[in-house]
Amino acid sequence: MSNRRQPLRPQPGDSIRLADYDPDDTGDYRDKDDALEDLERNRARLGELQEVLYAEHKHALLIILQAMDAGGKDGTIRHVMRGVNPQGVQVTPFKVPTTEELDHDFLWRIHQHTPPLGMIGLFNRSHYEDVLVVRVEELVPRKVWEARYDHINAFERLLAGSGVTIVKFFLHISKAEQKKRFEERLSQPSKHWKFARGDLKVREKWDQYMAAYEDAITRCNTPWAPWYIVPADKKWYRNLVISNVLVETLEKLDMGYPEPEPGLETIVIPD
Ligand code: AMP
Ligand code: MG
Repeated sequence: MSNRRQPLRPQPGDSIRLADYDPDDTGDYRDKDDALEDLERNRARLGELQEVLYAEHKHALLIILQAMDAGGKDGTIRHVMRGVNPQGVQVTPFKVPTTEELDHDFLWRIHQHTPPLGMIGLFNRSHYEDVLVVRVEELVPRKVWEARYDHINAFERLLAGSGVTIVKFFLHISKAEQKKRFEERLSQPSKHWKFARGDLKVREKWDQYMAAYEDAITRCNTPWAPWYIVPADKKWYRNLVISNVLVETLEKLDMGYPEPEPGLETIVIPD
């Protein structure tokens, strides 16, 4: 399958065909054991970088996770964020919009949860649902969702210009892997709660969802808010790829601890 390997981060303007991306790719790694050391190193480094992000208070990081059901969004949050101080992270899952949310523009509910300076914000689903499920299920007319790609790009540009670094991950699983994970949800009592009958309806429209993802990634892959297509059939490789991107992204911000108050060296703490 290695002939199907593609760069993880497509260039802005590239027309994406997901069939060109192998969900089962594991890069240069043989197996999980082979990747363990790098995973641990990234986890420790991410903890350090987050502490500086929090202390410096000049940048925010917004991580967007999108995937088909059972694609691994929850598992990614659990594993990748393990080394990070919970006080510096806010996780927001986006569900079916409430009637109040539907009475506003589609970005209203999103904007309230973008991370403030110093914080990492993690979106489990996002405004992309408004050009994915909404498009495939025809929840609004075509003319309405068609206009949203431009709105999204403008919104993300506003955030980027306000100190928010954005990274967007599509966790790419195969249809066969989804079947396996659904079967686990049915056979293991501790996973029953994760199974929703409605997910099968979505699975029936797999190809339509892939087409919607291809358009969303192609049309919203901007220099200020890049998409990454993550091979996600192997959970350990998915975690490795995402933690690599997060470490690299934060390192590029060239952050530092803020200047201390002057005169600290003369302070004596009284008994
Ligand atoms: P889960 O993430 O499995 O808890 O499921 C959340 C559900 O909310 C999924 O079926 C999403 O497709 C759905 N959802 C999220 N955002 C929207 C939206 N803007 N419009 C319609 N459905 C949505
Ligand atoms: Mg679900």
